[in-house]
Amino acid sequence: MTEYISVKNPATGELIEEVKTNTNEEVEQAILRSHESFKAWSSVNAHERSRLLQSWSRLIQENKEEIAKVMTLESGKPIKESLGEVDYATSYIDWYAEEAKRLYGRTIPANTETKRIIITRQAVGPVAAITPWNFPAAMMTRKAAPALAAGCTFVVKPAAETPLTTIKLIELAHKAGIPENVVQCVNGSGKTIGDIFTSSPYIRKITFTGSTPVGKSLITKSANTVQHVSMELGGHAPVIVAADADIDFAVTQTIASKFRNAGQTCICANRVLVHESVVDEFSQKLASAVSRLKVGNGLHEDIDVGPVINKNGFNKVVSQLEDAVNKGAEVLAGNEFDANQEKGYFFIHPTVLKDVKEDMNIMQEETFGPVIPITTFTELDEAIKIANSTPFGLASYFFTNDYRTGVYLNENLDFGIVGWNDGAPSAAHAPFGGMKESGIGREGGSEGIEPYLETKYLSIGNL
Ligand code: ADP
Repeated sequence: MTEYISVKNPATGELIEEVKTNTNEEVEQAILRSHESFKAWSSVNAHERSRLLQSWSRLIQENKEEIAKVMTLESGKPIKESLGEVDYATSYIDWYAEEAKRLYGRTIPANTETKRIIITRQAVGPVAAITPWNFPAAMMTRKAAPALAAGCTFVVKPAAETPLTTIKLIELAHKAGIPENVVQCVNGSGKTIGDIFTSSPYIRKITFTGSTPVGKSLITKSANTVQHVSMELGGHAPVIVAADADIDFAVTQTIASKFRNAGQTCICANRVLVHESVVDEFSQKLASAVSRLKVGNGLHEDIDVGPVINKNGFNKVVSQLEDAVNKGAEVLAGNEFDANQEKGYFFIHPTVLKDVKEDMNIMQEETFGPVIPITTFTELDEAIKIANSTPFGLASYFFTNDYRTGVYLNENLDFGIVGWNDGAPSAAHAPFGGMKESGIGREGGSEGIEPYLETKYLSIGNL
């Protein structure tokens, strides 16, 4: 019996479309096609692969409005953010279309006249990707683009909440001339398809963006087939506001970091640590700006914050809020909801909490919702200690105009991404990724294609 995923609009609970799921056999066949087309695709010259990627990017841009609308419908994010994400997603394709031409090898002087040593880079093999719902376009293209540029074939399983954007993008890849067997999409249960991917001898690399527990399970399972792994997992980003910071700037940047996609990004500001001498000014300005943000259906152009993705996401945020308020946090803005369990939509008004303490759950776990908890510090080292006291190590931010403080913070924060007076550091040309339990590997920049390449060492003798 054919099964379907019901894709629903998180702003209304209404059904958008039913997407057919793939049977296990169909997933196996997709993997086999990936394997069988690998030789031909990896032999296509780099300039031609580059041209095909450029055509794909162009087609996406030509269909920008339509893709953005689908993205807002299925993810709930405001339409201006969806339009921005289409640009962000194509920026990865553009970047790796260029990097495809720069997969340089090297030669090493041998220790005898009769030998030569040549190092080349080659595609790792068929790649399997599992992507999340919070950036349905960009999380896919930042895996697909370097994979295809390197000469890998690619099969992706998008999140069940947001498969429509991915399906549309893959359709456009084919239209651009990238062969159908080279880039494919399969749909169904993450666990089942994840098991098929990780146990397949044909898949040489698994790349995943999502929660840390699922990432750990994929790492464990892929050990059996010794697949290469790239993991972009959870975060718990600290924001440190130093005594000398430009407070107005810190406020706007914290808002930009926190409320993108209703707080559902892995690099969202999650804990705000403010020097005690400026905490009142910062909190008041922040709360006043936050209470002006407009919440609602992302299709309306003036909306700043859409719904959270589903009931589980909503319940997690609400329980963190209850816990914080019960333990003494003061609500400066928000803590209001517009939720309808029956219809299936969940809006959380942007919330600011003050007097947050370390023993509150919100300081211990990723929130993935539109809530800013503020706590204070006296000494910089105290802020660094709190910031680092988490198994996560993805993004961190700090605001200071003192260069010694800035350099000291950068050198002491255990995070893969550091924003110094910058709440929006993501860019296709820079390496994005986490330390500790936030992940393995980097996406973006020249680093982002490395995980799709193998190093081959050729030793020529008897010369
Ligand atoms: P989130 O909590 O953000 O939804 P998940 O890690 O649950 O993050 O989901 C990210 C992606 O991982 C989705 O495509 C989802 O279907 C998939 N997924 C969920 N559970 C598993 C699993 N056990 N194995 C493999 N993939 C999974």
